[in-house]
Formats: sequence, C-alpha cells, structure tokens
Amino acid sequence: MDRFAVISDIHGNLHALEAVFARIGKLDVQGIICLGDIVGYGPFPSRCIDLVIKHCTSVIQGNHDEAVINEQCEAGFNGPAKEAVAWTRSVLGPLHLDALSRLKTTDHPHASVMCIHACPVEMITDYVHDARMAALAFDGVDRSICLLGHTHVPMIFEAPRKTLEDGSIVSIEPHELISYVPRNEASVSLDSQKRYICNPGSVGQPRDADPRASFAILDLAANTFTVHREEYDIAAVQLATQNVGLPTILAERLAVGA
Ligand code: ZN
Repeated sequence: MDRFAVISDIHGNLHALEAVFARIGKLDVQGIICLGDIVGYGPFPSRCIDLVIKHCTSVIQGNHDEAVINEQCEAGFNGPAKEAVAWTRSVLGPLHLDALSRLKTTDHPHASVMCIHACPVEMITDYVHDARMAALAFDGVDRSICLLGHTHVPMIFEAPRKTLEDGSIVSIEPHELISYVPRNEASVSLDSQKRYICNPGSVGQPRDADPRASFAILDLAANTFTVHREEYDIAAVQLATQNVGLPTILAERLAVGA
C-alpha cells in the first residue's frame, strides 16, 4: 500500500467525520490511518468509534481515548475537557469502552511510516507545535515519516538525515528544521533523503482558525503529503453538543476553528 488517508482528533464530531470519509471515498486510497482521539469534546462518541473501526486500517489511541477508560490519565485536562471525558465515559457501553482500550499506542502501517498520537519522545509537554519541540521529537522517530496529531493544527517538519558511521541517527537542532504550514489541497513534496513529522490537523475540532474538518493524503509513490479541508454541518454538531449538556464553549469553538 502506498497511498493513505490520515485522520486525527475526531473528538466525537460525527458530522465532520462523515464528511471526511465521503471525501476520502473519492480519493482512491488503499488505507485510512487514524491517529487517535476518536472521542472527547463531542456529542457522538459511540458512532465515531463504530465508523473509525469499520473504515480505518490502522487506529492509534489518543490521550482522550485513554482518559475515558482510565480516569488517572485526565490529570492535565482543563475543565471542559474533563467534563466531556466524564460524560463520554458515562454514555459508552462496555463494547465501545473495550474497543478504546484495545487501541495501539504506536503503529507502523508501512515500512517507512510510524504513527503515534502526540509525541514519540516522553516530554513534560507533548505538543509538537514548533521547531524546538519537533527537534526533540525527532529523537524518537524510527522511520522516515512520523505521522502524529494532538495539536489539531496541520503542520510538516522536515529534518536532514544525519547519521554516524555506524548508521545511528544524530539529534537535530531546531535551526536545521524546515516547517511547512500545508494549505488546502496544495501538495507538499517529501524528499526521500530527508525525515518528516507530518500532522494532518483535526477532523472534529480544528484549532488553526479554519473551522473546516482537516485530514491528509500521504502518497508514498508520489512522495507527497496533501492536507484537505472539508466543510460540514457545524450548526448541527453545535446543537447536539448543547442538547446532551456538554459545556457551551465546546460548541462555540467549532465555528471559529479554535
Ligand atoms: Zn485531540
């Protein structure tokens, strides 16, 4: 398989997920990789779990998925996030909770690709959102391309491939990295001599001021990473968020992509 769709951070947003899957269906991919956080924040956790399990060939566990099945993992969450995790836990049945508990924390869906939800190195903060964090994160990347989510912002970091004589990889300094902010449908070329961290953005709660659902196509034959943005019925999800009693802020932020 050499052409994958990459989705992440769905967060119980069924309408965004359905819109993304409909679009992916027209993009001729051999597999769909989900980088985690299927649930948390949004009002449709069980239906999102069902769709992801049905359609995705590789599914990673995110920190919200983990917090739903293990209360100790929500320690760093803010108020609305904690409230949403508790609500999600209360509405999921044993089969869905079991499905979340079975998800892997890392995966290698292709010989040159590793997947993780947040960061391949354990750090105090695990948001890979700038060159300083990406340089540290590259120490844990064991393939040419690392796919990760968690920040809800689409981003590509490119690093030189520096190896010692014995083949071991040398750490990267932040100034050696090139960052790309991928625009909608503009393919970014990946150089096979370099290493990459690629983030597809968030399906269900984008935070880059563009409220459209975000996902990506990783084409290993063409060597490109292309982010796509998809409109969906935001008002319907906002209404459902309020109807189940989740914090208002979780509905409001969807409209502004924050
Ligand atoms: Zn998330």
